[in-house]
Amino acid sequence: GSSADLLSVSDCSVSYGKVNALRDVDLRVGEGEFVALIGPNGAGKSTMANTVSGFLPYEGSVTYEGREVRDRTPRALVQDGLIHCTEKRDLFGFMSVEDNLRLGAYRQDGSADDRLAFVYDLFPALEERTDQEANTMSGGEQQMLAIGRALMGDPNLLVLDEPTLGLAPVILQDISDGIDRIREEGVTILLCEQNVTFALNHADRIYLLENGEVVREGAPEELRGDDYIRQSYLGG
Ligand code: ATP
Repeated sequence: GSSADLLSVSDCSVSYGKVNALRDVDLRVGEGEFVALIGPNGAGKSTMANTVSGFLPYEGSVTYEGREVRDRTPRALVQDGLIHCTEKRDLFGFMSVEDNLRLGAYRQDGSADDRLAFVYDLFPALEERTDQEANTMSGGEQQMLAIGRALMGDPNLLVLDEPTLGLAPVILQDISDGIDRIREEGVTILLCEQNVTFALNHADRIYLLENGEVVREGAPEELRGDDYIRQSYLGG
C-alpha cells in the first residue's frame, strides 16, 4: 500500500482448520477514509475484522500504522487507536449504560468526560438511559451503546462489524446519522456490512467479498453500475 494507508492488507489468508475463510485478500484503508467490506453471510467479513484487530493468526501481511498487526497484542492495538465494535456487541448486560461507556475509555488520558459528552450528543437516546441496564435496552439502543463505547476509546481506526443488523428503519437512520458524524470527526472507518445499499450510501470505497476472496472493488458509483452487483445484490 501507499504511505498514507492507515491499514494495509496484502495477500492475507486465514483458515479455521480446513475452512479457508480468507484467501489472498488485498485491501487498504487510507487515513480519513471510509471503506466498506460487503458480502453475503459467511463471506469472511467478521474474519477480516477479527484479523485486523489482532485476534486471529494470518498468512500474508496486515499492517496498521505501518507496523505488522501480528507483532502486537490486541490490547496494544487498542492503545494505538484501533477499536473494533464487534457484531455481537459484547456489552456488559447487567451494567448500566454509563458504566458500559466508561469501560470503553481504555486510554485513561483524562478525556473520558469529554468523550462521554460527545457520545451523548451523538446518541441522545443513551443520555436518557444512563442508569438503565444494557440488557433491558432495544436492539437499536444496544447498537448505539456498542458504537458509543467504541468511541470512548478515541479511535483512529474504527472497525464496525454489522452495525445495521436487524435494525428497524427508524433506528437505522439514527445509527446512520451517527456514523456520518463520526466520520466528520475525522475517524477512519472500516465497515463490515451485509446491507449493500447502506454501504453504497456511506462509504468512499467498497470491497465485495465472496467465499473469502475479494471479487469487486471500487467507488460506490462504479459498483452501482456493475451488472453483477446490480443483479446479485441490488435486486436487478
Ligand atoms: P456473517 O455476516 O454471517 O457473520 P461473515 O462474512 O462475517 O458472515 P465469517 O463470520 O467471517 O463471515 O465466516 C467466514 C467463514 O469462516 C464461514 O464459513 C464460517 O463458518 C467460518 N468460521 C468463522 N468463524 C469460525 C470459527 N471460529 N471456527 C470455524 N469456522 C469459522
